[in-house]
Formats: sequence, C-alpha cells, structure tokens
Amino acid sequence: MSDEESRRWVYGFGEGDGSMRSLLGNKGANLAEMSRLLGAERVPGGFTVSTEACVEYMRTGSPPAGLDRQIDEQLAELERASGKRFGDPRDPLLLSVRSGAPVSMPGMLDTILNLGLTEASTAGLAQVSGEDGFAWDSRRRLLQMFSEVVRGVPAAGFEQALSAERQREGVQLDSELSSGGLRRLCEEFETAFEAHTGEAFPGEPREQLRQAVLAVFDSWRNERAATYRRLNGIPDELGTAVTVQRMVYGNLGSQSGSGVAFSRDPISGERRPDGDYLDGAQGEDVVAGVRNTEDLEGLRDRMPGIHAELLEALSTLEAHFSDIQDIEYTIEQGRLFILQTRGAKRHARAAVRFAVDAVAEGLLDRRTALAAIDPGGLDALLHPTIAPDAEFEVLARGVGASPGAARGEIVFTAEQAIRRAAEGVDVILLRPFTSADDVGGFSAATGIVTSQGGKASHAAIVARGMGRPCVCGATAMEIDPDRGTVRVGEVELGAGDALVIDGSSGAVTADEVELVPATIDPNFETVLEWSDSIRRLGVRANADTGPDAQRARELGAEGIGLCRTEHMFFGAEREPLVREMFIAGELWRRDPGPGAARRFEATLDRLEELQRKDFGEILRAMAGRPVAIRLLDPPMHEFLDPGVLQRELQEARTNGDAGQVEIAVERLEVAQALQETNPMLGARGVRLGLLLPQLYAMQVRAIARAAIDTAAAGATPQVEIMVPLIALAGELELLRERIERVIETETSAGEALEVEIGTMIELPRACLRAGEIAAHADFFSFGTNDLTQSAMGLSRDDAEREFLPLYLERGLLRRSPFETLDLDGVGELIELAAERGRASKPGLRLGICGEHGGDPTSIGFFERAGLDYVSCSPFRVPVARVAAAQAAIAAG
Ligand code: PEP
Ligand code: MG
Repeated sequence: MSDEESRRWVYGFGEGDGSMRSLLGNKGANLAEMSRLLGAERVPGGFTVSTEACVEYMRTGSPPAGLDRQIDEQLAELERASGKRFGDPRDPLLLSVRSGAPVSMPGMLDTILNLGLTEASTAGLAQVSGEDGFAWDSRRRLLQMFSEVVRGVPAAGFEQALSAERQREGVQLDSELSSGGLRRLCEEFETAFEAHTGEAFPGEPREQLRQAVLAVFDSWRNERAATYRRLNGIPDELGTAVTVQRMVYGNLGSQSGSGVAFSRDPISGERRPDGDYLDGAQGEDVVAGVRNTEDLEGLRDRMPGIHAELLEALSTLEAHFSDIQDIEYTIEQGRLFILQTRGAKRHARAAVRFAVDAVAEGLLDRRTALAAIDPGGLDALLHPTIAPDAEFEVLARGVGASPGAARGEIVFTAEQAIRRAAEGVDVILLRPFTSADDVGGFSAATGIVTSQGGKASHAAIVARGMGRPCVCGATAMEIDPDRGTVRVGEVELGAGDALVIDGSSGAVTADEVELVPATIDPNFETVLEWSDSIRRLGVRANADTGPDAQRARELGAEGIGLCRTEHMFFGAEREPLVREMFIAGELWRRDPGPGAARRFEATLDRLEELQRKDFGEILRAMAGRPVAIRLLDPPMHEFLDPGVLQRELQEARTNGDAGQVEIAVERLEVAQALQETNPMLGARGVRLGLLLPQLYAMQVRAIARAAIDTAAAGATPQVEIMVPLIALAGELELLRERIERVIETETSAGEALEVEIGTMIELPRACLRAGEIAAHADFFSFGTNDLTQSAMGLSRDDAEREFLPLYLERGLLRRSPFETLDLDGVGELIELAAERGRASKPGLRLGICGEHGGDPTSIGFFERAGLDYVSCSPFRVPVARVAAAQAAIAAG
C-alpha cells in the first residue's frame, strides 16, 4: 500500500471526539463528541472525511488514494447499523453531506440532502413511507441542491419552475404541491441538469456521493468562502472536512418536524432555552424562513414528551461542552434526533451574562469563563443599539468602524454639523473621507459615515476615539458634499433627510428604526473586575480633552498613554491663531531679528494660555494617575492650507486694502513654501521641535504651569512628556536638556513638580538604536501607527485607499496591519527595541499607544513582549481590560 493509501482520511462518528477539530472540522468533531454522549438513538450515524483529505485534494487536484475505499467501509458500517442499504430501490439509506471547517464559517459552504435517492428508490421510498408526495419532494430537493451545489446549475431556473408549478396548482407553498406536480418538477430538473452539464443526472448513489464530497472540497475555494476567510483572518490552508450523516425526515408523516434551539437565550444570555420549531418540515425550510416557525412553546403544546427530551438534551450538551449550545434537531414520527451542536454565536450581553452565570453555577471557573468571551464585541455594550427585533431595509453597508447606533439628519460638512448641532439637532456627518479639518464636525455629530476607507481610516480612528458610532467605506453611497446629495442606486437623499447608522454591523438605513439606550450591564462590571484582578498589563487611554479623560477614567483607564496636543490646535476659534503662529515662526527662522521674534512669541503666549487651560482640565480629570502628553507632532501643512490663505488674499484684494494685500501675499507665500512632497516623512515630530524651539518650550511651560496649578488645587498631577518621532539618540538628548531647562525655570521658586521625560518609538531606526535612546528616556511608548507605516514603507491613507484592499484580497496580507499589528515584522522591531532598551536601562517602562492598543490580538502580543501597558481610545478601554486579562491567562 502506498503512503497515501494507508493514511487515514475518514472517521466514523464513533471514532472521533471533540478534540479533533482541526482534523474533523467543528461540525465533525462536535458530532463525534455528541454521538458518544447521547448515543446512536439520538444522533443519526455517519462519518467525516478529514480536512487533510481536502488539503491533499487541493494540493494534487485529485482525491487522495484510499479515500474511496475508506468511504466504502464507513458506508458498509452505516448500512449495518441502520439496517438499510445505500441505493436499495425498496427502502434506501439516504445521506446528508455537509461541509465543516475547523473554524466556524456560517453559510459559507453548501449542503446537500437526500443523497442516494435515484428514480427507482424514490418509488421505493414512496412505498415504505406510504407518502408519494414526501418521496418525490425528497427527490426534487436532491436534484435541485445537487445541481446547484455540485454542478453549478443556476438556481433561478429551479425557482422559476417551482413557482410555475405552484401557480398551475393554485397553491402558495412548495409543501402544498401534489405528488404529480413534484414528479413533473423532477423531470424538468433532470432535463435542466442535462442541458447545463451535457450529462445525465448520476443515477448511481455512490457516484452522487463521490461528486458531492469533491464539491464540498471545491466550495472551500468558492468566492464567498474566500471572502469570509479574508475578512475574518482565517488561513486558506485549513481546508474543510465533509460530514456525511444518515438522513432523518422531519417532513415524513405526522409527529414530524425540524427546528433549531439554543440552550440559553443568545441575545440576553438568560438561562432559558430558546428556539424555533417548524411542523412537518426539513431543517432547510427552517433556515430558509419560507414559513413562519413556532417557538419552543409551540412544540411543547404539540408534543410535550419530545419537548421535555429536547430540553434535557440541551442541558446535557451545555453541561458537557460548558458553553451555550446551538443545535439543529429533527423529529421523525415521534422520535427526536439531534443533527448538530455547536457553541452559540451570541451578543456581547449574552456573553458576559453567561460568563458570570456559568461561574456561579459551577459550570466554568473564572479564568475559563473570562477566556471564552469574544472581547471584540464588548464595546457594543457601551452604545445605544438598534432594537434587536427591528425590521428595516438596509440602504447601504460599509465597515462597522465604531460601534453603536445613531440617528440624525444628514449633513455634509463639519460646519453644517456644528451649526445644526448648536441648534439642538442630532446630525449624521456624511463625507467621502475625512481629514483633520473635519474633526470639529465629529464632536458635533451623533454619527459619521464615509464612502471610502476602512477600520483604520482617519474617520474610524477619530470616531472611535470620541465614541461616535461610525460606518466607513460604504462604497455604494455616492456622497457629493458640493451638491449636498448622497445617491445609492435610484435613491437620492439630501441635507436634512433622516438616517440611522449601525457602527457595529456597518448598516445604514433611511427607515425609522427604534434605538435602545446603552445600560451599564452589571455582568459586564463583574467581568471587568475579574479582568482587573487577573491582568498584568496596565490599560491607559488616548485622550486629548478633559471630558475624554474623565470618560476614560470612568471606563477604567489607569492613566493617559497619549494626549495628542495637536487636537488642541484645531477648531474654528484656534486655527487662525495657529496659522499665524506657524507663519510667524517661519518668518522668524528666515530672519531671526527681534521684530520677527516678538511677532512669533506673541502668538505663542496666546496659545500657551489656551494650552495651560486644556492641560489643567486633563490633569485634574486624571489626578493621581499618569498622563503622557506628547509634544506637537503633525506636519506643518496640516495647519497651513494654502487655499485658506488664497481666500484671505482675495478678500484683501476685494476690500482694496493695500497693506492687507501685502500681508496676505506674504502669508500665502510662506504657506506655499512650507508645503512638502512627503509630509509624513517631513518636518514633523521632533524635527518641528528643533526647527521652532520656542514652540516646544511653550508647550512644556504650559504643561508645567498647568501641573503646578493642579497641585495647588489639591490634586496630584503625574506628568510624562513624550517627544515624537525620534530617530537619533542625539535628538532626544538635546530635547531632554531643553525640557529640563524649562521645568527648572518654572520651578525656580521651589514649586514641587516631578516630570518624567520619554519618547515615542515609531521609526525602525529608533528600535534598532533603542539602547542609546534609552539612556535619555524615562520611558518608551511605541507609536505603532507610524511604526507600521515606516517599517512597511507605506502611508496609511494611501494604502487604505489604493492597494491594501488588493493585498487583502490576494492574501498577501491576512489582516490590515493598521488594525492588527504585523506581529512578524513590526512585532519583531518592538521586541528588539524592548530588549535593547531594557538592557541599557533595566526597568525602563514600555507602553504602546497606537491604534493596536485596543486590538485583542495585538494585546496578546504586547503581553508576550513584556510591555507594561497599552493605551487605546476611551471606548476601547473595557475591551482592552478584558483582552489583557485573556492575554495573561493565555500566558499561563
Ligand atoms: C502612532 O504613530 O502610533 C501614534 C500613536 O501617533 P499618531 O497616530 O498620532 O501619529
Ligand atoms: Mg505617530
């Protein structure tokens, strides 16, 4: 026997167990485990073709040697156990064939039922069941599913034929068709199969099975499945298993039906089984939703004994798997069968409730219960949501970029948003994409929608930071801010029209939909308390204002890991002053005479007053906890839009004021001169601080004075000053000296003030030379947004707009590196910097403040890399607390 021949490709349900997920798929492993638990009376027998067989098939293009023989052996066993023969024309054994990947891929791969039914055995089935209609309907389903799934015959033709037959017989539902009609349909379906494939429908059951197994393998590579894997970061190499199971019939005779059931309510988590029942139907009818189902009470009224058996099975399964179970069941002539069980997909509310209840009930210990929660969904608990039973038409769908639902009237500009919000109106800001200029509009809006960009776009990050629900990349929406319209196909909406968005699912609707307010969930509180007692990583927040800092504190932030001071430079009121500051600064650089210095310093003085107030608010809100304030970082051009200065010049010309014109000409010339080809790599970060030393000195003064004010008011400020974008140790050395000098001056009268001075690490060179840099730093904070850009040599905005989608589609990247840290590349740089930094300065504090600080997968990495804290948007803080605890649990 060849190696391949002797390898094991097929496992009977009795031969597997729940631990064999990667080999048998979730479905196969759970079925094997369930068969052991409930026995053959409850679980129809079957076998699973392994994922290894699928992988081998994908590798070589043909089924592995030995597969057919092993399937034959399993079939013989199934025939022996059921007392029926596959292909028996009088009383055939029929099979269902389903896919089952090692990770759940709902709806992605296809199912075939009633396999093995031939024209002859249909007549036999009619005889033994005594129901002609049932037999021909079974055949009709097989022809349809097999043709569509296995041979790609278009579904539309079958649907048309069914609808024509219903019309002919004057009935509403397929289940009401006469056996004559069903027979006619079978003939038509066979003809359609022949016309499409040029072959007769396989009359041999074993051939049907062979083709079906390979079709399931092939479906692993269909577009839907590939897209789902890409969106969910599932590796293409896993392959799918194929589960083959003896058919039982919910559409046979009386006391038959099918349904799905949950061991607990999957939305609330309440300890109450929940589910659907459809009398006289096969499972596919329940899922297809063609007829209205009853709930489990309906089943209890019809068959109280079966209902009790079902509840018992649910409870046994839940206790065994220690998790909420989602099952498919069929009742065949008064006998209950469970066809499938799996961990239930659940809303975050149910996830936290189950964790708490499961510990109280002794089902799980605390660490296991905590580890089982999907942390990604948890922030849904902090926002209003669309009522779970709401029905509405989705107008467009994008990426759910910042969770929660919001309702408001459409506006197209930040200005409109601010104006309407000031009038007390809830507004949804619609932009093709957003930039720093739109930030004022974010805080005014209740929600944001963009037609471009993904989860890490500017809009997404700012919206999450501010806790505004946001949908990004709703590509079907043609947003035209100039015309003030948004078109989706035939629908056109304008400013003032109402919109509801769901930043969790990415749905946008123009329908009137009920929103339910967020409530503080006591189970969530409990889970957070557990997390805090388990986690090692600290959790801070990125916050730039007093209210944000306050909110972050309420959500459990232990400090601020990043205060981006540039956000204090934006806003209608401050922008003219900031513009003047940069222009005056540049004029001073060109000609550093006393006049220019005075003009520059005058603007700095005014800005200092504003900053001192801003910092004071933040330090008070975070009293007693560390606040890392970053000195100004962005490139100058973000503050110096030549378009604005052009308008200024035009206005001066219109007014005919020669003096004003002269000033405006100079201002425009300066702004134009400061434009850069690659601003992301230009005069920003520490370089800005070196070009305009007075600017950083002003910021440090404002910080020091705000801290002294805060201390004088009785609170304890804990200030950390961060220098952005360091590449050279010398840069930090110089800056540190200057910062210390300002602080010394500010405390010359003996004011008590302790300030730590550290740096962002966001360039590969800084990682490599971390040892030298650490000599001048009290701490490092990894800026993983810029570090990702600089390590991969791409700019986030361009990448997300242009080639990142292609890279994801092609599988060159599994996840956007701006959402989940590129562990192999950027991750290695972080590990290296951590090691070199700490080798030079033992105990050096290490944090991370890029967007990855709120991403559970990345948090797992930061735990392993030995960082001290993560910092993320305030609304991600609870997620990060849970993810950090899970990371600690995983680390053991
Ligand atoms: C970073 O680069 O990760 C960072 C936090 O800075 P910013 O996103 O403001 O550039
Ligand atoms: Mg940065």
